[in-house]
Amino acid sequence: MTNRPKPQPGILEIAPYVPGRSQAAAGQKAIKLSSNESPLGASPQAIAAYKGVGDHLEIYPEGSSAVLREALAEVHGLDGSRIVCGNGSDDLLHLLAQCYIGDGDEAVMSQYGFSVYPIVTEAAGGRIVMAPESDFVASVDSILAAVSERTRIVFLANPNNPTGTYLGASEVRRLQAGLRPDVLLVLDSAYAEYVTTSDYSVGVDLVERADNVVMVRTFSKMGLAAARVGWLYGPAHVADALNRIRGPFNVNLGGQLAAAAATRDVDFTRKLARYNAQWRDWLSAQLGSNQMRVVPSQANFIMVLFAEPAHADAAFEALLAKGLIVRQVGSSYGIANGLRISIGPEAAMRAVADVLKNMV
Ligand code: PMP
Repeated sequence: MTNRPKPQPGILEIAPYVPGRSQAAAGQKAIKLSSNESPLGASPQAIAAYKGVGDHLEIYPEGSSAVLREALAEVHGLDGSRIVCGNGSDDLLHLLAQCYIGDGDEAVMSQYGFSVYPIVTEAAGGRIVMAPESDFVASVDSILAAVSERTRIVFLANPNNPTGTYLGASEVRRLQAGLRPDVLLVLDSAYAEYVTTSDYSVGVDLVERADNVVMVRTFSKMGLAAARVGWLYGPAHVADALNRIRGPFNVNLGGQLAAAAATRDVDFTRKLARYNAQWRDWLSAQLGSNQMRVVPSQANFIMVLFAEPAHADAAFEALLAKGLIVRQVGSSYGIANGLRISIGPEAAMRAVADVLKNMV
């Protein structure tokens, strides 16, 4: 037993990512509100494009996701040679950590930031440093205070998962301005399409101005979670480093085709954003009471805080009993009195409001 292959030091201490639950009670139809998926399905054009894979499964996809990079460059006005696509944005987060973090290095994230950041950092041999938040909003001062000589990456999900809160454009600029130029600022804009506030910036402006900023995006929240496609926009030197180590065919053909079509289907993206804003506002207003607090969200989910963890657990079970699966944010994020609820189909939103309002 002692003479078997051993993972690198620290690997077996990493707590694995726990995905949102997907099953209701046996025999019950589940409505999944636990993974921030699209309530309106995928763009019909993306579904049609996905079928373009046809029956030639023996052929490798084009390796650099050229059709997708071209669509993204055109629609968003970007330099396509500085876009790198990934098998979901998780793939890109791993690649960034692998490229920029070595043994004993550090990455800084905000206290309630996305739970994949510690995994990719520790997998690369680094240490994650959490910058304290107050009231579930990231603090630029706190992040800057957490940066040390060993810091190589600062991860910021904006808006953030699981809280739904965001930092305005001027705060993000202040964060970048406060970092040493050799620290990479990773702006994870996974929920950017859902933002409705006017003081937000997705991050392209900073990428264009600075040499140490990358913006990471995903198609998972826009109806293509099953296709696993993410993308990144950064300086040429970062794209070059990532392209040297990424899987040579890291985005499957169906994913490339579907994501390219989804990118061009801007009407569908707008429709999804409008739907989300309407029901995010509605659900937030329905649930805001003394017994529950809804943290203001700019994403496609809301985080609801209960007076005590036991109330959150009871609410989770009451929703589950109706087939409504939401996300407990105690184990992964340490917010034991919180539930994260994705904005879903109208009937599901009304059902969630009924269950929770009847509990108090
Ligand atoms: N970043 C954030 C902030 C997320 O919430 C998620 C999805 N949970 C991801 C990245 C990863 O998305 P994917 O790998 O599906 O592209």
